[in-house]
Amino acid sequence: MKILKGFSAAPGIARGIVCVYSHKLHEAVPHYNIPKKQTENELKRLDNAFREARKKINVMLNISEEIFGAEGKKIISAHIAVLNDAGLRKKIEDFIVNNGINAEHAVQDVFDDYIGKLTGHGMHFEEISHDIKDVKDRLLESFGLESGAFICPAGEREAVVVASDRLTPSMILGMPRENILAIVTRQGGYTSHATILARSLDVPVIFGIDVEKELACQCSVIVDGMIGKVYVAPDEKTVKLYDKKEKLRDERKYLCRVKSRHPAQTGEGERIRLKVNISTLGELQLLKEYVINDLEENISYDGIGLLRTEFLFMKGSRAPTEDEQVSVYKSVVDSARGKHVVIRLLDLSPEKTPAYIAENPEAYSALGVRGAAAAEMHRELYVEQVRALLRTAEYGDIKILLPMVADENDIDTYTGLIDEASASLSGSGKKFRKPDIGIMFETPSSIILADSLYRKIDFANIGTNDLLQYTTASSRDSMISQQRYHILHPSVVIMIKMLTDAGKKHGKETCLCGEVGTFENYYPVLLDAGVRSFSVPVTKYDDIKCELLHISSADYAGEAERYLENRTREAQDRFFESL
Ligand code: PEP
Ligand code: MG
Repeated sequence: MKILKGFSAAPGIARGIVCVYSHKLHEAVPHYNIPKKQTENELKRLDNAFREARKKINVMLNISEEIFGAEGKKIISAHIAVLNDAGLRKKIEDFIVNNGINAEHAVQDVFDDYIGKLTGHGMHFEEISHDIKDVKDRLLESFGLESGAFICPAGEREAVVVASDRLTPSMILGMPRENILAIVTRQGGYTSHATILARSLDVPVIFGIDVEKELACQCSVIVDGMIGKVYVAPDEKTVKLYDKKEKLRDERKYLCRVKSRHPAQTGEGERIRLKVNISTLGELQLLKEYVINDLEENISYDGIGLLRTEFLFMKGSRAPTEDEQVSVYKSVVDSARGKHVVIRLLDLSPEKTPAYIAENPEAYSALGVRGAAAAEMHRELYVEQVRALLRTAEYGDIKILLPMVADENDIDTYTGLIDEASASLSGSGKKFRKPDIGIMFETPSSIILADSLYRKIDFANIGTNDLLQYTTASSRDSMISQQRYHILHPSVVIMIKMLTDAGKKHGKETCLCGEVGTFENYYPVLLDAGVRSFSVPVTKYDDIKCELLHISSADYAGEAERYLENRTREAQDRFFESL
């Protein structure tokens, strides 16, 4: 047996045979010179290839929107934009004419040059380069070249563990969902486009494993997404262990089905608030399927604990108007079916800052223009968003969440915006209401100052995704720093405990909404650290609710302390493996 250790991007257990997906399309690209009189013909071949690729991507756009909603549409729209880039097209044409070479050769060279320029400038550009590679492959395929494909036939006809050097959106969209048991890749990132799509498939996803070297078609594996491990040719002991784990999981699911009408609670009936995170409108559809389903008279979830509003600002070439925003927020409130919706003000970051807001999104990096500083810099935009929220509050139960707060100055800046928005609405004839205001605890500073900050707010969310990167000086979306970006870092556990204590003291709800909440095994530690309110991705809602039902106070009492006794990363990982 060989054990491979990578980074978990989505939990879950899968077992099956591996099918390797190869992207080695570039090796099939012919290189040859063309006589001058054939240039016209070559340009025609290029034109046909572009037309063909556009057709394929348009088909993909429809599939993507159907399956993944607005987020899926956005990703494929970005591919179309690359194809429609007149500058890029002109460069390829010039390359053919000036160098007297075949069209597919020119496509390869021009794209590779473009991709090369994006490499080594941080994760954001790395992710864009994956999308561009994907478009390049579509174009090359349109010349009749073999596309990226499974290198054994199993991948086309049965459910397999997909192993690939990298993951691309079109790869996911091109595979029947039911044929994907798990995904294992070398390259990846916790927040890359492809990972976001993969996570909504609800299968384990692991990146950081040298697939080409370590995995081969047909080898039998167990993939444990929770701990980021792949067991290749598992031995009898491991198979038995996972038999047990899966049996336990099935038994748990049975009990959970029986109790599905009840709100989230522990095994002893201690009530836990369980909400969902929504980052795209597509997820609202999933909310209906996964959480609300057909039990409309008995909706047991506890609301939308985090609505990330960036998606609204990412599409199109301008910001949504106040009225457009009101209409989207109202549709979210409607989808929430009477439960409250926590709506976060626009949280700008490089991958979420559209060109109409700033020409250089890099200025909005983790240590750049963030939170209240961004709100001050783009005051009008934020006042408009707040006006839309105050108007929506009149219509349904919403709360406003302030991102990236570091201290009271930040809260004052945001409060100034809220006052300005409500002053401008007064006398406008438009109905509005000031809802509860809460903050994201996601900077170490805010935690140190928690006691005073809690006095100024109505509720709080804990954002461990950012908190972790600012605490451990490791980027949340870089493969290189994943060893430090330990999703349940001991310092984060201690900070969570500090916050839940402070929240209790001030009688304010403190909801954990970072991705750490997607990992079932962490719940005993999180409960012992005092968390009684969680907000998790929609696709994890059922699993977490089920997990909670199987935990009693005897299971979690003292668990955080016991975990913290493990001083090294290895020991900390082992702590969960033994569960
Ligand atoms: C977080 O930082 O933990 C969080 C929930 O917000 P986001 O992932 O949107 O930054
Ligand atoms: Mg955050």
